[in-house]
Amino acid sequence: MRTLLIAGNWKLNPTTAEAAAALADGVKQGLGSATDVHVALAPPFVFLTRVDQVLEGSPIGLAAQDVYWETNGAFTGEISGPMLVDVGCTHVIIGHSERRHGQGETSGHVNQKLKAALAAKLIPIVCIGETKDERLSEKTEEVLLEQLSGSLAGLSPEEMAGVVLAYEPVWAIGTGLTASPEQAQAVHAFIRGWLTEVFGEATARRVVVQYGGSVKPDNAAELLSCPDIDGALVGGAALKAGDFLAIIKAGQEVAARGKS
Ligand code: PEP
Repeated sequence: MRTLLIAGNWKLNPTTAEAAAALADGVKQGLGSATDVHVALAPPFVFLTRVDQVLEGSPIGLAAQDVYWETNGAFTGEISGPMLVDVGCTHVIIGHSERRHGQGETSGHVNQKLKAALAAKLIPIVCIGETKDERLSEKTEEVLLEQLSGSLAGLSPEEMAGVVLAYEPVWAIGTGLTASPEQAQAVHAFIRGWLTEVFGEATARRVVVQYGGSVKPDNAAELLSCPDIDGALVGGAALKAGDFLAIIKAGQEVAARGKS
């Protein structure tokens, strides 16, 4: 069975390094040394070093929220893969919908960032998902196909096996609306089918595909129990250590039970 990955995307929160350290410490203390579920925290860039210090000695991974494809040079405001590794990052979120839709990031950009992350030996978490209009006009699969084929172009099966995908329906992010377990599982099965076609069954079985979109303590167990849902990318509920730990606990219970 694939090990579940529960990652907290803090987005543009909190405001101070002290608050970031306190939040990370709350998660660290609550998780202890458990490794039955993989956990990662994605604070803003400026708090990565501070959070890395707090997480020392814990199995929790440290994720950046973005990466640039060039390594060095005249690229004002950008951060490269080797820089992220230098401050302790293990993971990086790429192509979050708030960047695809808010910052005009294309699947081509995502592909370049993904290759830079792999070159730096970071575990990429590549986000894909349809908007409400796209779902209502029955374009979900078409949109996902474009995002999958564009974002993952040129990867070998072995590289693909090391990429985490996060299916995040845009209409469910930060809205309190969640895809039902049936809706989410159907899309995850579609993604797994595409991975099988393009990269082969052995690789497709290894790829961790998270769900994201208003995952909360009260809906996590149902979502994480779905056969093709291998974890969660959590926004709002990751800002309270207690809520995030409750989602991790739901994952641990699913892991202990096993999935068919
Ligand atoms: C996210 O930030 O990726 C996310 C899913 O946010 P939320 O859990 O708040 O919907």
